[in-house]
Amino acid sequence: MMREHLFGTNGIRGIINESIDCTFCLDIAKAYGSLKKGKIAIGRDSRISGMMLKDSFIAGLLSTGCKVIDADIVPTPALQYYVKNDPSVKGGVMITASHNPPEYNGIKIIAEDGTEASREEEKRIEEIYFDKKYNNVLWRDTGFYSSIDIIDQYIEGVDKILDLDLIQDKDLKIVLDAANGPGSISSSKFLRNLGIQYVGINTNIDGTFPGRDPEPIDKNLVVIQNIIRHGGFNLGVAHDGDADRSIFFDEVGRFIDGDIILSIIAKYLLETRGNGTIVTTVATSSSLRDVVDGHGGRLIETPVGSIHVARTMMDVGAIFGGEGNGGLIFADHQYCRDGLAGLGKIIEIMINRNKSLGELVDEIPKYYLLKDKVSVKNIDDRRNIIKRIQKIYSEDERARILNDGIKINYGDKNWILIRESGTEPILRIYTESKDEKKAKDLLNHGKELILID
Ligand code: MG
Repeated sequence: MMREHLFGTNGIRGIINESIDCTFCLDIAKAYGSLKKGKIAIGRDSRISGMMLKDSFIAGLLSTGCKVIDADIVPTPALQYYVKNDPSVKGGVMITASHNPPEYNGIKIIAEDGTEASREEEKRIEEIYFDKKYNNVLWRDTGFYSSIDIIDQYIEGVDKILDLDLIQDKDLKIVLDAANGPGSISSSKFLRNLGIQYVGINTNIDGTFPGRDPEPIDKNLVVIQNIIRHGGFNLGVAHDGDADRSIFFDEVGRFIDGDIILSIIAKYLLETRGNGTIVTTVATSSSLRDVVDGHGGRLIETPVGSIHVARTMMDVGAIFGGEGNGGLIFADHQYCRDGLAGLGKIIEIMINRNKSLGELVDEIPKYYLLKDKVSVKNIDDRRNIIKRIQKIYSEDERARILNDGIKINYGDKNWILIRESGTEPILRIYTESKDEKKAKDLLNHGKELILID
C-alpha cells in the first residue's frame, strides 16, 4: 500500500462518509492509543457528524487500554488548555473541521503540552496505522471512560491573563457571533460572568450552521455588521467553527483586518511590558513591523501556519503571536490560538486605553494588503510554478525563498508573497504597499509571474 500522508496542515480533514468515516476514525484512534498508552482527553465541535466520529475514536482508544476523558462540545483551545493543565492526561484529540462547511469533519491531535501535535508524532501515528500494529489489550485491560465539563476552568484560564478588576461590569455592549459552534457556550458565559452586556447571534449549538458559513471572513459576516450599524454597540466579535479564532468589528460595524488586530494587541503588550518578542508569518502586514519596531520590540516572521508561529514563540520566548486570519496566541495563557483570549484582550485594551476599537485602529499605520488566488489544473502544478518563480529570483537579493513559496521585497515596504495552498490546487498571492494603486499593480504582476510559461 502506498504510504501517503494522512495528516495535512490542519490535522486530518474530509467529507463525511466520503473521505472520512467511522471505520477510519476507529483505526486512527487505535493507532494513536497504541502510541500513547495513557489517559487521552477528547472533544468535538458542533458538527452533526461529531458524535459518530467521537464515539468511534473513543472505542478505538479504549480498545488499546487508554483511559478516555470526554469533554464533548468545547472550543479547541479549551481542550488544549485542559490537556496542558492536567498532568495525568497524555494527549488529546479534537473532532473538528474548524472553518470548513458542514459536510466536513476532521481529527486534530493535541500534544501533551496542549500544543498542536508535531509532525513527528503524526508520522508515528501514520506508521502504526499503515502497519496495523495495534495494541489490542486483554479484556480486563480495556480502557475506562468518563466525562468532564471543562468550560469553567477554561474561562478561569482566560481570566488569568486579563485585568479582570478593570473590565468587570463595564458599560460595554457587544455583539457575539459564535457560528453555532462551541464558542456559543464559552464566550457567552465569559461575557455573562464579567457582567458585560451582549447580544448573541448564532449562539445556539447547531451543526448544520443555519446562520452562516463557519469561516469568519467578511462576506460571511453580514448580519453582525448590520446589527452593529443600527447603533448602540461598542464591539462585535465573530468566531470560526471551533472558536480558536476571533474576528472583530468596530463601533460602526467595520470589519477589522486580523493584521490590524495583531498590531493593536502587540502595541498594547509592548507598551505595558516595555519590551518583548512578537511572532507572526511572512504574510502579515508591515504595519505590525512598524508597531513592533516603534516600541522597542523584536519581530520574527515564520512560514504561514499557526503551528510555525506557536513553535517559534516557544523557542524564542515570545510574548505574543498570531496570523491575520484571527488566530491569536498569548504566551502567558497557552501556545495555541485562542478566540476567547483574543476577545478578552481586545475588551481590556479598549477599557484600559479608554478608546473605541475604531480609534485604536486609526493609531495603526495604514497599508493596503491585497490577497488573491490563482487556480491551477492539478496539485503538482503548484509546486512546479513555485519552483519556476523561485528559479527566476534565485540570484535576486530582494527575494526570500520559502519552503512553500517566495516573498519579494521591492523596498519601501512594497512586497509580493506567492505561496502554494496546503490543501487545494491554488496559489495564493499577497501584496502590500502604502499606495493602493501600487498594491494593485503588484497583485497583477504576481498573477503574471504565475501565468507566464
Ligand atoms: Mg479553527
